[in-house]
Amino acid sequence: MEEAREVRTTCPYCGVGCGVLAEVAADGTTTVRGDPEHPANLGRLCSKGAALGETLGLEGRLLQPEFGGRQAGWDEALDLVASKFSRAIAEHGPDSVAFYVSGQLLTEDYYVANKLMKGFIGSGNIDTNSRLCMASSVAGHRRAFGEDIVPGVYEDFECADLIVLTGSNTAWCHPVLHQRMLAARRERGTKIVVIDPRRTATTDECDLHLALDPGTDVLLFNGLLAHLVHTGKIETDFIREHTRDFDAAAALASADAPSITRVAKGCGLAAADVQAFYDLFAEIDRTVTVYSQGVNQSAHGTDKVNAIINCHLATGRIGKPGTGPFSVTGQPNAMGGREVGGLANQLAAHMDFADAAGVDRVSRFWNAPNIARRGGLKAVDMFQSVADGRIKALWVMGTNPAVSMPDASRVRAALAKCDFVVVSDVTRTDTTRYADVLLPAAAWGEKDGTVTNSERRLSRQRSFLPAPGEAKADWRIVCDVATRMGFGDAFAYKTPAEIFREHTALSAFENSGARLFDLGGLTGLSDTDYDAFAPRHWPAPEHRKKQTRLFADGRFPASDGRARFVPVRQEATAFTIDADYPLALNTGRLRDQWHTMTRTGNVPRLMANAPEPAVDLHPSDAAAHWLKDGDLAHLSTRFGFVRARVRVSEAQRRGQAFMPMHWSGQFAARASAGLLSSTVTDPHSGQPELKHVPVRIVRENTA
Ligand code: SF4
Repeated sequence: MEEAREVRTTCPYCGVGCGVLAEVAADGTTTVRGDPEHPANLGRLCSKGAALGETLGLEGRLLQPEFGGRQAGWDEALDLVASKFSRAIAEHGPDSVAFYVSGQLLTEDYYVANKLMKGFIGSGNIDTNSRLCMASSVAGHRRAFGEDIVPGVYEDFECADLIVLTGSNTAWCHPVLHQRMLAARRERGTKIVVIDPRRTATTDECDLHLALDPGTDVLLFNGLLAHLVHTGKIETDFIREHTRDFDAAAALASADAPSITRVAKGCGLAAADVQAFYDLFAEIDRTVTVYSQGVNQSAHGTDKVNAIINCHLATGRIGKPGTGPFSVTGQPNAMGGREVGGLANQLAAHMDFADAAGVDRVSRFWNAPNIARRGGLKAVDMFQSVADGRIKALWVMGTNPAVSMPDASRVRAALAKCDFVVVSDVTRTDTTRYADVLLPAAAWGEKDGTVTNSERRLSRQRSFLPAPGEAKADWRIVCDVATRMGFGDAFAYKTPAEIFREHTALSAFENSGARLFDLGGLTGLSDTDYDAFAPRHWPAPEHRKKQTRLFADGRFPASDGRARFVPVRQEATAFTIDADYPLALNTGRLRDQWHTMTRTGNVPRLMANAPEPAVDLHPSDAAAHWLKDGDLAHLSTRFGFVRARVRVSEAQRRGQAFMPMHWSGQFAARASAGLLSSTVTDPHSGQPELKHVPVRIVRENTA
């Protein structure tokens, strides 16, 4: 019998990135608790994290490669994958293949997948499910700062005097951060304003709730910018010395939102509430604005992000403790994916294709003359290309697009039609049924690597269990395929530590300090140092051992060192509500579930609070549709239909319906919100509109 041991690792669910202590008893049973030494959570865990120990069973696990309706050995499965990809590339070119990957992957997994596709296959066609989560924030950061940077850190919540939560049900989606915010409210009187069409657990404990009409965020923040200008609450020295394009942004904001009355009318709010928000923002210097999927998952998500950032630049509230715009990510390693080029429009190490010198730099570093020279297909376009037959071979890693992608019926049809689909994952999912080859991946608790949380803090995930059956780490599977495709010299890694060393070296390679993404201080970590790696933020440049606050000197990573105001105007929502589809469907998350429930769905106590798919309706809407609480309803949009139980709730705004996004076929047939969602995307970020889709709802037995 083995000795009991305790392993420090990181929660695999949300972007808070909580530290976890996994205690493995001598008999092999594992319990988890929050790591009191991890700076993200200081010992706290939410309901999902606390139940991690109950997700370690082998139910539904893929234990051996499969193809042709039978179990297979790794060699024959990998040979088949490599030969199919190589043949598609030879016959149709590098853009005929694609990888669709996941914010669940560790940075080392992401790094080698990106290196294979962009560096050696020579296509930009690798995109991640983080496209559905925070791509608009990435685009907004790049427009404003010149680089994709989250300026703040979690300690800012504890020294802010005002926290504005917009498009974020933080209490359920980032619970440990919310606990930190509520502690600040209790202990130092921090005001909390919540901007959300719905009443949620987050609005239960706030000082002001603005239940605005969906999609009117730009108008609200343009009105705020205009108000700050008109009341003289802007920081003119900061604007003059550290920014550009203020006049254009302020003029457009004033034209768009000429008065509080107009803003209130346009947003569906009481003028007194808008005034109260503007007064708080104008008067309280230490203000953090937190935004998440309610802002990002929109056809105008990038403009929303920049409308928020504009207000922080105008007041100089950035680069100082307790201030700043703060995007929080949904997935555990959405940030790590951004760092290594997991998005199709990025290259690696926060470089992108628009920078020819950067492409050349990565090409030389990887010794990859065939490197892609332009970005690839973003998620929605990627699956459209699969449907059109332009993508001949697709590899899905650790994600379930048959449920989570918008217009999921179309995605399923595309997967069914595609010449060759590989799925590497931990368990069987709705997507694995479309796989020509299934590859068993190691799960949380079985693999080693790093993740980066929403505050740019790198942490280790460490293995504490052996991988069952023949499951392998994702990075290993990618490298094995790369080797069989003839790229073995560049993928001869033996450990994730080797990959991490290369990643850090690339970030510092010929980096003159112009780019903030720099891990030069972590290059050359020994295996022992990597094993012992303690959580820390980036940037971590070689010449600076101590973390200092980003933008504290007022310099931004644009070529002239200045941040940009981005003039934005309120646009109409992508869809209008009409008589055929009279309600607006909003989607979101439950407190106790994660993504498509492949792990949390197996924990009875996490299922207890919401055991079946439900749609929330305001009482007046329910009555107008002859529905009562508990009825089974048929919901349809122009993209598809689902069935769900009606929950009548005063928390729901009139005219809107809300459905959680989690339900997959394993747990409830025909209940995935992805079947209802639209493929309309933000023009800057490629992120789909998931918050405002016209929907019709009728009682199931009358459908
Ligand atoms: Fe895990 Fe997020 Fe919960 Fe922390 S807040 S325990 S990272 S799910």
